[in-house]
Amino acid sequence: MIRFDNSYARLPEHFFVRVAPEPVAAPRLLALNAALAAEMGLDARALAAPEGVAMLAGNHIPEGAEPIAQAYAGHQFGGFVPRLGDGRAVLLGEVVGPDGAHWDIQLKGSGRTPFSRGGDGRAWLGPVLREYLVSEAMAALGVPTTRALAAVATGEDVWRDGRMPGAVLTRVAPSHLRVGTFQYFAARQDTEALGTLTAFAIARHYPQAEGPLGLLEAAVAAQARLIAQWMALGFIHGVMNTDNCHVGGITIDYGPCAFMDDFHPGRVFSSIDRGGRYAWGNQPQIAAWNLAQFATCLLPLIDPDRDRAIERATAAVHRFGPLWQEAWAERLGAKIGLGPEGADLGQALLDRMAETGADFTVTFRTLAEGGPLPEGLAAWEADWRAELGRRGIAPEAAQAMMRRTNPAIIPRNHRIEAAIAAAVAGDAGPFERLRRALATPWEVAPEDDDLRAPPAAHEVVHATFCGT
Ligand code: AMP
Ligand code: MG
Repeated sequence: MIRFDNSYARLPEHFFVRVAPEPVAAPRLLALNAALAAEMGLDARALAAPEGVAMLAGNHIPEGAEPIAQAYAGHQFGGFVPRLGDGRAVLLGEVVGPDGAHWDIQLKGSGRTPFSRGGDGRAWLGPVLREYLVSEAMAALGVPTTRALAAVATGEDVWRDGRMPGAVLTRVAPSHLRVGTFQYFAARQDTEALGTLTAFAIARHYPQAEGPLGLLEAAVAAQARLIAQWMALGFIHGVMNTDNCHVGGITIDYGPCAFMDDFHPGRVFSSIDRGGRYAWGNQPQIAAWNLAQFATCLLPLIDPDRDRAIERATAAVHRFGPLWQEAWAERLGAKIGLGPEGADLGQALLDRMAETGADFTVTFRTLAEGGPLPEGLAAWEADWRAELGRRGIAPEAAQAMMRRTNPAIIPRNHRIEAAIAAAVAGDAGPFERLRRALATPWEVAPEDDDLRAPPAAHEVVHATFCGT
């Protein structure tokens, strides 16, 4: 029996809508994350049994679950939408792990809810497998993120550009609190709800934080660290709307995300991001903007005197810049085997890579493995060796650090797309192989060596798409 404690469903009724997932025709388990199940105190074998699969498909509501769709709002590409909410997902319930931690179990693609607007509430196999692979790769890379517990085929088709096989992803996370959740209540001037939400967020994510200002400060610091971590891996989120900005500082929403192949700070993959708003190099500014929206929501709680509230909230948001700088310098310096003082030299490498079109992951990993760098980087490498010498750092010591900061393998776009295409055609092999290799991203087994390679010219993926 699963131990549920549905704390969100105990919040006031206008925080959500009680709605059950819509049953599907023929659930079939595609992937189950046994390691994560164990962490959550769930029995992986029971999950893989028919009743477990029925639960993961939304066909069976386990005892103790209280399915709800959460209300939230959000700025999408800068424009405010006062009511978004879970339109294709339900929070089945919160599981309490062996360590007492709460885990939201959310079924994504589980059918229509009152927040669905024109949508069908469903997901197709492509985005479900993509989110599974990328979110689990991020977790293995040590990036705070929502997780993927399972993927289930529904046995039903959904209509996108054509007929596509339907699927449901079981997403788990310590919460699904978004900046947009706060915006939903701020837009309704519901200060009482904002207070409730603030207390919930502090208890769940930042137990040391004191009051709404403490929450804001903690969220600013967590986002600053998170964005630095994304960028150090060449990760582009792709849709950093405020409804996809997690108050707990974890990565959420793997729609049109991508890991870069050849480096350019202006790189964008999302098919709907025409202006490059969410390009790799814009991510810190966008996160700060999102946090300013968060701060705006909290103003009435921070101080009854509005001017004083604005002053204090502004100071908290302005901490983002220096905190991100600090985290980024640390990560970038470590990527070249130096401390934070190596950041300028790291930036010089990035500048040069942007000119030569060097592959982001291969370049850094080659440096870590002592191999020959891609063309056009010889002068930089000479500078780097000189710098190591000046500081008395042995190349082997630098390499040891770099092997922990530069992954050997990332979920490359062309590999993900190939795995999806194979799965649609009924072959789960490439997905399984990728999933296994990405579980240990700092080392690659010899038989997986080909998964490291950048795409050949004809394999390059230029655009990624939202699941919708
Ligand atoms: P997202 O693209 O995940 O950030 O979703 C933005 C909003 O669109 C959220 O309110 C989603 O619930 C909603 N949405 C996305 N896809 C669908 C769908 N297929 N059916 C209903 N609502 C959807
Ligand atoms: Mg979203």
